[in-house]
Amino acid sequence: MGKMLSAARSRMYRAAKQVDLHEELVQRLDYPAETLAVSIPLRRDDGTLMQLKSWRCRYDDTLGPSKGGIRFHHSVTEDEVQTLAFLMTMKCSLMGLPFGGGKGGICVDADDLSLHEKEALSRGWVRAFARILGPDRDVPAPDVATGAREMAWMADEFGTLTGEMRPGSFTGKPVPLGGIEGRTPATGHGALIALEAVRHKLGLPLGPLKIALQGFGNAGSWFAKEAARAGHKIVAVSDSSGLIRHGEGLSTDALEAAKQNGGSVADAEQAGSDTLKTSSLIIEQECDVLALAALGGVIDGDNAASLKCSAVLEIANRPILPDADEHLRRAGIEVIPDILANGGGVTVSHAEWVQNRQGLDWSEDRVADYLRDTIENASAKTLRVMDENQTDMRTAAYCAALIRLCEAISARGTAQ
Ligand code: GLU
Repeated sequence: MGKMLSAARSRMYRAAKQVDLHEELVQRLDYPAETLAVSIPLRRDDGTLMQLKSWRCRYDDTLGPSKGGIRFHHSVTEDEVQTLAFLMTMKCSLMGLPFGGGKGGICVDADDLSLHEKEALSRGWVRAFARILGPDRDVPAPDVATGAREMAWMADEFGTLTGEMRPGSFTGKPVPLGGIEGRTPATGHGALIALEAVRHKLGLPLGPLKIALQGFGNAGSWFAKEAARAGHKIVAVSDSSGLIRHGEGLSTDALEAAKQNGGSVADAEQAGSDTLKTSSLIIEQECDVLALAALGGVIDGDNAASLKCSAVLEIANRPILPDADEHLRRAGIEVIPDILANGGGVTVSHAEWVQNRQGLDWSEDRVADYLRDTIENASAKTLRVMDENQTDMRTAAYCAALIRLCEAISARGTAQ
């Protein structure tokens, strides 16, 4: 088993001990149920051929069809895909959804591909994995460097291959193609709902919060917009090329404009702001909440001591590695864990899947209510377990996820 998955599992076992779950039930979640690795050919626009490594992992489907995104990134490995599928299993359980956990990925630099190459690759991925996908089996969605456009190509390819138009095979599709209103902002919006729902537990000051944000992609930018609209101050933002700060809060319009011109957040024009070249310094900015919405593994045992925040909001998947957990606990920095903080994306994916199966569209208000209720319920559940067990928020979230999963595993029976 890979190192990443083994480290991620250590958090599950810490939680299992807290709530005294039968070890044999938890053991059922030790390894992914199935991982398919396929080498995909891509004919580039210049005529050359690229051979790309790709995966889909169905980690567990006790609670329902496995669910999780597909990422295009040059750092993707089988270990990472399995670890992210494990996280999806915990997330879908905590959110109370009828889904297991899955994940897919292609080891490729998406920035390096033309539009046509991206389409060919998206369709190629579906041809490679179609035999293990489907609305009742395993349902992909967007993740790093994939979005509605990729889901449209993928759903179309799946329909062509199977000869059936089943829009519930993929979620995060464009609205005209069976997508749902509100899926794109869902992760960022859900993160703010989670923050508001647990903030009284974090020892934060009343009123507007000072937030430093790492990452201004889909999740990060929507979170920033929603947070600013709610009156919070985004005092610093970074992306891979730079960092910008403003003590009174950055204008999200200025940040968006800089991004739309193809630049960095650091190019945003706002009087009174200053910039830094080293974007990794974002984690050292003084703030109430450090929101991490970039990639995984940005905080580890080596840099955990440099954080100057009261709490961390994990909008990305696994931005904090398990070897940082103890440092943060000792420093009194509470973490709103990824499986709670970014559960908004898969929650609205669930609404989309239901909409597709019902053949009846959900209104924007209905989606917003469903998102709010689901995140608030998961947050309340987490806080309850936290109080009952006097433990940190991540462990409590894992406990709540595991209790539901283990009940289902036990009900199904383990003699096979
Ligand atoms: N990729 C998102 C996540 O990590 C969404 C998954 C989904 O909607 O299935 O939660």
